Amino acid sequence: MRSHLVEDGEGVFSAFGARFVLATEVSCVWRQDGKGRRVHLLIWAPGFGAVDRMNRRFGRAQNLSSDGRPMLKMSARDAVFAALDADERCVVIPAHVWTPWYGMYGSKSGFDSMEECFSDLAPLITAIETGLSSDPAMNWRVRDIDSRAILSFSDAHSTRTMGRELTVFSAPANFSSLANALRNGGILETVEFHPEHGKYHLDGHRKCGVRIDPRDGGPPENRCPVCKGGLTVGVLSRLSELASRPLFYTQPGRGLVTHPDGRPPFRSLVPLRDLLSFSLSVGPASKKVDRLYEPLVNEFAGELNVLVYAPPDDLERVASSRVAEAIIAVREGRVEVDAGYDGVYGSVTPRIERLDAGQAMMFP
Ligand SMILES: [Zn+2]
Ligand SMILES: [Zn+2]
Repeated sequence: MRSHLVEDGEGVFSAFGARFVLATEVSCVWRQDGKGRRVHLLIWAPGFGAVDRMNRRFGRAQNLSSDGRPMLKMSARDAVFAALDADERCVVIPAHVWTPWYGMYGSKSGFDSMEECFSDLAPLITAIETGLSSDPAMNWRVRDIDSRAILSFSDAHSTRTMGRELTVFSAPANFSSLANALRNGGILETVEFHPEHGKYHLDGHRKCGVRIDPRDGGPPENRCPVCKGGLTVGVLSRLSELASRPLFYTQPGRGLVTHPDGRPPFRSLVPLRDLLSFSLSVGPASKKVDRLYEPLVNEFAGELNVLVYAPPDDLERVASSRVAEAIIAVREGRVEVDAGYDGVYGSVTPRIERLDAGQAMMFP
């Protein structure tokens, strides 16, 4: 990074025509209150000097180079302390907060509140990341998050999934403005997966193929009804446990979901490769998908423009009417969901009303 990035405003770097902030994800592993804890944190740093000091503070007891997401044998509270001790401008954001094993509120090794997890440093946590299996509307139910910004990022494990979720800031592109935007509502919107698409939305036991929707009444004592073993309590259940109000939101159109009292809105999308794969009835990594993906993102200057802004006629011209219909259906929220559970991704497919005979085969 040092050899490619050029500083372009305070704490913001550019390379290859894009701007970057120095950031990482770490995995804190420790014991607290008689329970093993694993919490993933995102850390933003304002420059390489801060990164060097942070690495020295973390590095004494850890092997930071073992993994792209290093494991820290320290509490989440102590990790926040070390980051801020390295540079007080650093920002720490609990990652995918509802994920059962690694989320700060997760059902397996998480906490019931910010205070329980971060103790005296909880007031310095100004934002959370929703993760794939929850969206902002779900998080609006939780009082502990009322005073914090709700963010979404890729959680990318490959370059193909970069940008699958994202946050649109209205702040100037410098580090202090981004950090302040978390406190002052300088966020225009977030772009989300449908929460059912994520792999921990509902409760279940993958080995037995058991999936349970808590809204139908969960199984007693969270036991799998087939093997009687432990069930993985998903994001919807866990969030409902900690929520202090029912789901509430408005949908004024244009695909945006809004909060009645003005928290930043969001929209739920399906990655373009998945839509092409659906439209062409081939795998998302296939050559056929590539052959359509490239001209679309080139024509409209990026995947987000294809999914959100490109006019239907232009989509039809570059791709096909079927692809255009799939994109418009997702924009307008016309989708079929099959929710994920216990590590199994859910699926979200466009509901297309006008079908010819061949396409109708796919919608029994
Ligand atoms: Zn993570
Ligand atoms: Zn089972």
